[in-house]
Amino acid sequence: MQLSSPRLRAALLAAASLTLVAAVLPPPAPLGIGDPLFPALGNPGYDVLAYDLSFTYKDNRTPLDAVTVIDARAERPLERINLDFTHGKVASVEVNGEPARFEGVGEDLVLTPARPVPRGGRLHIGVRHTSDPRGRGDGGWVPTEDGLAMANQADAAHRVFPCNDHPSDKALFTFRITAPAGLTAVANGVPGTFPAHRSGSATTWTYRTLHPMATELAQVSIGRSAVVHATGPHGLPLRDVVPAADRELLDPWLKKTPGHIAWMEERVGRYPFENYGVLIARATTGFELETQTLSLFERGIFTGEGYPEWYVESVMVHELAHQWFGDSVSPRSWSDLWLNEGHATWYEALYADGLGTYSLERRMREAYQRSDQWRAAGGPPAAPKPAAPGEKIGLFRPAVYDGAALILYALRQEVGAAVFDRIERRWVAEHKDGVAGTADFVRLASREAGRDLGPFLEPWLYGPTTPAMPGRPEWGTPKSV
Ligand SMILES: [Zn+2]
Repeated sequence: MQLSSPRLRAALLAAASLTLVAAVLPPPAPLGIGDPLFPALGNPGYDVLAYDLSFTYKDNRTPLDAVTVIDARAERPLERINLDFTHGKVASVEVNGEPARFEGVGEDLVLTPARPVPRGGRLHIGVRHTSDPRGRGDGGWVPTEDGLAMANQADAAHRVFPCNDHPSDKALFTFRITAPAGLTAVANGVPGTFPAHRSGSATTWTYRTLHPMATELAQVSIGRSAVVHATGPHGLPLRDVVPAADRELLDPWLKKTPGHIAWMEERVGRYPFENYGVLIARATTGFELETQTLSLFERGIFTGEGYPEWYVESVMVHELAHQWFGDSVSPRSWSDLWLNEGHATWYEALYADGLGTYSLERRMREAYQRSDQWRAAGGPPAAPKPAAPGEKIGLFRPAVYDGAALILYALRQEVGAAVFDRIERRWVAEHKDGVAGTADFVRLASREAGRDLGPFLEPWLYGPTTPAMPGRPEWGTPKSV
């Protein structure tokens, strides 16, 4: 049958497509992009270009009111859009200006827009929701004595805001944080062009990133903070955020950052972002975190007993090194975590070596001796075993820290210091603001060395046991020591 009336045809086609949508769409289900370690993380079918996050903070016992606006591009036709989100209540969702249906399934928020989005179409998503700071110690908001900080690595950004929570989808961020008088809010990037907006007793602070960022690296600090401004190498703006009451006490540590940046720049090239600083929080996290442009530290490592100065400084350099390795160059999957932690540990160890306390040789030899045990327990550095259920931070094992720095040491032994230096510089230059994985590293290293390093590197990356260290016969084999 051929329909002759265009109006009738249009009406019939519309009815048919509605039936089709209803018949074809399966029940909402959580999706992921197939990360080997976090299969449910991230979502297929779109690329986020920008997040605009608004938070209104009252106190640590009250969920923040939040609006998350996401601009994205559909990579294929989408009748449904999955976001990662949990730990907050969703009040309403709009997609491209029209109300959309939404359902929480697992740790996904599944949206059904009023009309399907074509391939290449723009997606403008607005979600009104709450964001609950009452954590269960599994990441996201970190309560401090005077407010909140954020620690989203590896998979906790979606406990704070709806997002495509995978480092392979980087985007620009804008933050608008409203906090009661007396509190200061700071986020990644540079302050907005307008001064903090004051209305009644609350102030709204805005920040935006000038470089794309992974969701895991977002930082929002709210507290009784002092913001300390200084200037680093070649005029780089420095901005530290510390508890106001501790400003003088912490000042000697803050003064070390310019030297750390100059030291890193000598080795790998220009610092990759718009500004840098440390965020020192009155909290006990058990970790420090390389949130982009504003690394998070626990106050205790600067003021506690038992941390020698060389150690604290080398930890500061570790988080700073991540700004190049892990932040500017994001991992393609979480199995590439060794590229983040191996490099950060490498520069941490090299810095400590320069201070003359703990030599790189000694540290690498100790790692060599333990490497087989680490591989047996957690898998090889580039193919780590998933963390035990409920212990996601368990992914951060020695095999991806010193065990991975050991791979860089082996590479330097194999190709020589000059080629190794070139590999490091080219890596952060070519993948600046991008995403790269283990295969990319092997390819780049091979190119700089002028030969295929796959056969050399693969056993180091993926082997169940540790290969012999080139040029160090006296080290023996890990099993024999
Ligand atoms: Zn690290």
